Amino acid sequence: MINFGPSGFCEDFAAAGHKKSEEMPEWLESHGLSAYEISFTNGINMSDEKCVLLGKLFAEKNITLSVHGPYYINFANPDPTMIEKSIGYIINSLKKMKLLGAKRLVFHPGALMKQSREEAHARVMSNLKLLMERIDDQHFDFDFQICPETMGKHGQCGTVAEVAEMCSLDKRIVPTLDFGHINSFGQGSLVTEQDFANVFDTLKMYIGERYHDVHIHFTHIEYGPKGEVKHVLADNNPQNFGPDFEPLAKVLKDYEISGEIISESPGHQTRESVDMMKIYQNA
Ligand SMILES: [Zn+2]
Repeated sequence: MINFGPSGFCEDFAAAGHKKSEEMPEWLESHGLSAYEISFTNGINMSDEKCVLLGKLFAEKNITLSVHGPYYINFANPDPTMIEKSIGYIINSLKKMKLLGAKRLVFHPGALMKQSREEAHARVMSNLKLLMERIDDQHFDFDFQICPETMGKHGQCGTVAEVAEMCSLDKRIVPTLDFGHINSFGQGSLVTEQDFANVFDTLKMYIGERYHDVHIHFTHIEYGPKGEVKHVLADNNPQNFGPDFEPLAKVLKDYEISGEIISESPGHQTRESVDMMKIYQNA
């Protein structure tokens, strides 16, 4: 089963007169959507009371919640005090997620800074091991997954193989496959069904049958020589920066993939989620 839904508020939500997160569950239900991603990308500022309230409202509509962790997280940073901060952002996000009833925490694994890709990846791997020990120390009593994301810029950690290897560390680490990022990193590498299938084949080499249940971000993204430039609309896309969803929809069915597909379209996340859901249903 795949749940489709937006990340955050979109222009259509505001145009319909909505202003508050409390109104989001009903809005999503009215569009037939069943996933939503809450953004802590610029900080973890939601009060505990609001987390509990939103958790209840989303649960009533059977909407699966995920959280996007702060952009400041960087497990490739050579400075140990900065690693402690990244660990803190993850643990504080998980505390809010318990109150929200959210299961998946998306995060950007790290930036190369001045290191080689190999050196930065090795740091991310050892720091994620440390992170899982620190998470164990918290004795969280709820079901959660932390989900490193495939990234679109050449200066960031998170190729498909790198994320797959991160996920091999612990069963609670599950990939966020951002196909717009993968396509941007590879200068338009996702075109055919086989291109998309290769992503899942790579995952399978590292995490075996766990590849069937993943978190997905899907948005058209403009790219340049260094990878991702910016998110663009799927339907206002004269240069055809991709990728297109149709070939992925077919592969999702062939490979029996389940999980959430989140749209990060600039302004029209709900509409693009509905469009993807229809393409998937007809694939
Ligand atoms: Zn992200």
